Amino acid sequence: MSKNKIKLSPCPVCGSRPMMIEANRAGEIYCKIMCQSCGAAVPFMHSQEEAADAWNRRV
Ligand SMILES: [Zn+2]
Repeated sequence: MSKNKIKLSPCPVCGSRPMMIEANRAGEIYCKIMCQSCGAAVPFMHSQEEAADAWNRRV
């Protein structure tokens, strides 16, 4: 099984493509989504799915 493809909506502010940022803190992975153009972002979440979900609901 490959990873689910995560779909990210364009930035609600400027319409640019967001990027996924992953951080590893004390062995735990945290993800957030951030717009490369305007810096709009959602807070760090515990999984890519949660981060993507939070981002996609920002619209
Ligand atoms: Zn933006």
